[in-house]
Amino acid sequence: WIARDAAAVWHPFTQHADWTGDDPTVVARAEGPWLWDVDGRRYLDGVSSLWTTTLGHGHPGVNAAIADQLAKLDHATFLGASHTPGIELSETLIALAPKGDDPDLTKVFYAGDGSSAVEAALKIAYQYSTQTGHPRPKFVRLNHAYHGDTLGAVAVGGHDLFHQAYKPLLLETVGIESPGDRALGADRLTTAISHLRSVMHEHGDQVCAIIVEPMIQGAAGMLDYDAAFLREARTLAYTYGALLIFDEVATGIGRTGRMWAAEHAGVVPDLLTCGKGVTGGYLPLSAVLAAEHVYEAFLTRPGDSSPRTFFHGHTYTANPLCCAAALANLRVMGEQDVVARADRLGERLGKLLEPVAAKDAVTEVRRLGTMIGVEVAPDGHRTGFRVCRAARDRGVWLRPLGDTVVVMPPLTLGDDEADLLVEALDAAIDEVLG
Ligand code: PMP
Repeated sequence: WIARDAAAVWHPFTQHADWTGDDPTVVARAEGPWLWDVDGRRYLDGVSSLWTTTLGHGHPGVNAAIADQLAKLDHATFLGASHTPGIELSETLIALAPKGDDPDLTKVFYAGDGSSAVEAALKIAYQYSTQTGHPRPKFVRLNHAYHGDTLGAVAVGGHDLFHQAYKPLLLETVGIESPGDRALGADRLTTAISHLRSVMHEHGDQVCAIIVEPMIQGAAGMLDYDAAFLREARTLAYTYGALLIFDEVATGIGRTGRMWAAEHAGVVPDLLTCGKGVTGGYLPLSAVLAAEHVYEAFLTRPGDSSPRTFFHGHTYTANPLCCAAALANLRVMGEQDVVARADRLGERLGKLLEPVAAKDAVTEVRRLGTMIGVEVAPDGHRTGFRVCRAARDRGVWLRPLGDTVVVMPPLTLGDDEADLLVEALDAAIDEVLG
């Protein structure tokens, strides 16, 4: 399989061996938090198959919902037509949306994956500016951010590795210091806030949106930060007439021990993107939750010379199988109180990781709920990757982000499995850096 893979498949980031120095694990089946490869080796899926499997793999309730839906309606366009799973999922997401004084998230726009949800949110924000005042061509973004790999999402990212090849093609953005950036030292929150203030002071009437991952920048290396930054961003967005976008593709759907990371701050954005965990990792579906005032700007009014429609929508927008999977995932999450379980699991993993954090070889352990980054002291030889490989050899599947090892298991992980995960990581760090 590895030879056939190498001969025929173009993987993200070119071939596995180029990127990781390793052949791919060829996964054959999965159940709960476990993966098996084609040779029958079993691995604990410590990163929820790229941060998606909220309930683990093969949940009978979700499987049954997909099968039921398949028997009724596989696909119908959402352009000019609708269907019951799409309507019900919109109602469910709106009921679950973060609530506050203002604004109200009342509309759901579907997309296919995290990147395309971000892309839609950016286009909505720009078009909103043209329809409510004047075109505002700039986006404010955080340094180190990752929001996906389509061109708009790349533009609002802050990671040079993903940027540099496409620089001439990108939207106009202003990057600000990240409140989670450890390199800024203990003053990082005040530095980031004052930078955001001065950028908005200088560019305010050109900015259509500020986009951030709330509370923790995931793919940036699990850089958690203070909620005060989000409250300031909300205030500044109002002051300068820009929209506030929260990208909750990674942080949403219970991952941080709340349904949304926004809830830690008590801040409601104008647009909120979600993806990954929405369907519990079964099928690709993402969405933008939009405030009523944003949606209203897209309604054609009598006397408009051209339609105000949002010019965006894909063949598989709101695919009914995906919607059915998402509805089942969210129903099971409610029945089993999975968000509260995620909070407890995060606490437990945090406690188990205390001795790991105390090691000389570990720079810092960062955590919000079950979003965890264990930063190891680099030895100049792709340390994070080697730690993950050593953990994999012990049967635990993890992924590095540079020198930070990500731990993001299914939210329903059992106590014994949590123990096993941390033991393997601990031993892997000792093996590589001990
Ligand atoms: N936004 C954030 C915050 C993400 O973490 C990711 C993926 N890691 C994306 C967007 C892009 O999502 P996708 O890979 O599903 O396109």
